[in-house]
Amino acid sequence: MSQEIRVRFAPSPTGPLHIGGVRTALYNYLFARKHGGKMLLRIEDTDQNRFVPGAEEYILEALRWVGIEIDEGVGVGGPHAPYRQSERKDIYRKEAERLVAEDKAYYAFDTAEELEAMRKRMEAANAPAAQYNSITRLQMTNSLTLSAEEVARRIEAGDPYVIRLKVPRKEDIRLNDLIRGWVVVHSSQIDDKVLLKSDGMPTYHLANIVDDHLMGITHVIRGEEWLPSAPLHVLLYRYLGWESTMPQFAHLPLLLKPDGNGKLSKRDADLGGFPVFPLQWTDPFNGQVARGFREDGYLKEALVNFLAFLGWNPGTEQELFSMDELIQAFSLEHIHKAGARFDIQKAKWFNHEYLRRLPEAELAATIQQQAEADGLECSLEKAEKIAGLMKERVSFAHEIYPQSAMFFRTPESYDETVRAAKWNDDARKAAQVVRDAFAGLDTFTAETAKTAIAESLAAAGIKQGKVMQALRLALSGVGAGPDLMITLEIIGRDEAVARLDKALTQL
Ligand code: GLU
Repeated sequence: MSQEIRVRFAPSPTGPLHIGGVRTALYNYLFARKHGGKMLLRIEDTDQNRFVPGAEEYILEALRWVGIEIDEGVGVGGPHAPYRQSERKDIYRKEAERLVAEDKAYYAFDTAEELEAMRKRMEAANAPAAQYNSITRLQMTNSLTLSAEEVARRIEAGDPYVIRLKVPRKEDIRLNDLIRGWVVVHSSQIDDKVLLKSDGMPTYHLANIVDDHLMGITHVIRGEEWLPSAPLHVLLYRYLGWESTMPQFAHLPLLLKPDGNGKLSKRDADLGGFPVFPLQWTDPFNGQVARGFREDGYLKEALVNFLAFLGWNPGTEQELFSMDELIQAFSLEHIHKAGARFDIQKAKWFNHEYLRRLPEAELAATIQQQAEADGLECSLEKAEKIAGLMKERVSFAHEIYPQSAMFFRTPESYDETVRAAKWNDDARKAAQVVRDAFAGLDTFTAETAKTAIAESLAAAGIKQGKVMQALRLALSGVGAGPDLMITLEIIGRDEAVARLDKALTQL
């Protein structure tokens, strides 16, 4: 039997989840579901300085909203609980101490001043990068330069210390990324990274590797910004003795600015007037509100479809995919290496496509609420009819009502251009006969209105094609709009007659 696929989404609760994070979670989810594997959610909260209250709840809600189901992890539980790293401190310390015992890591007692002095020394000597490494470590205050007794004494006395990885001096570190191919880094490029901080918390690198190993992760699918850390992670797997079960890596392409130049930022979004967060977020420190896709009116199906295509394509012409279809179609082979341009117009297009497929009943409430907020009465039935007529013409549900004045209000003015071009004697005569025909109707529907118009115009000897735009002008005040017959049905017979009367006196 082949090994079960296990992937994880491992966000840090440092603020609202960026839309790129949602894409990472989505790709992990699609991959897990496609292969009948498990999707884990681990909260990486070991950097206490960057902890933001509410961020974890936000992450959970965002994943729930878009429909990414977690099989194991925070909020769900599972055999490897706890899944919040701040609750797993002892596990990381044990591994860090083991590395020290095996001479693969060491205690370092350097104070901030000593580290600063080293930095200055290296700078003065024109050393390429001022860092703690195989050479400089021999001049610093650590368990490699101090006697065993002195180290024990300092630890006993409660002196602050960190544990650093003893990175080899000259070694090529390789990994075969499933998307990027071979990545080779020379160990001299990697500094002696801190694994355990003086507050007893692990750094990201240690905790991430220990957890991926203990939680049986088979594939690490994450953003490209972590690619530079990957060689260090390979080294850690090796030093921890876990190289043979090391997960495979897949680093996803960056999300680029709308013009394709550089990484997408919150600033681009502010300038472009679009969200980069799935849900609205209120900063708990300064109260600032950042817009969210959900509150901006995006449907989750549209967002998922849009995100799926940011860096992946199915290799066919099909563009609309439900979550189930994405699961079927997804494969890491079809992820691009090149960055993905964040084109908000495409997101709107997806939203339009999903919106027009929605049942009218799901759009009616929004219309009703907006109308009522304007002090207008609107039955559910009327709202549904409006939705049916208008949903093809908008990208968002909330855009329907602002374009629906003609269903609620008698025109107060008439489009001048259309009037000049179309309002003539024939038009006036047409308005009159149609008005009379409408007034005589007992049942007023799109169908009966249509027949009444056709028959009354024929009887008056007026060609329908010549006067329809004028009739529309008389009824709605403008020269173009949604299906006129359904519009008539929505406004009803009396209102239609009243509008024609008004047009006949005012136009
Ligand atoms: N905690 C890291 C983040 O916030 C996780 C990176 C990874 O997936 O390894 O993105």
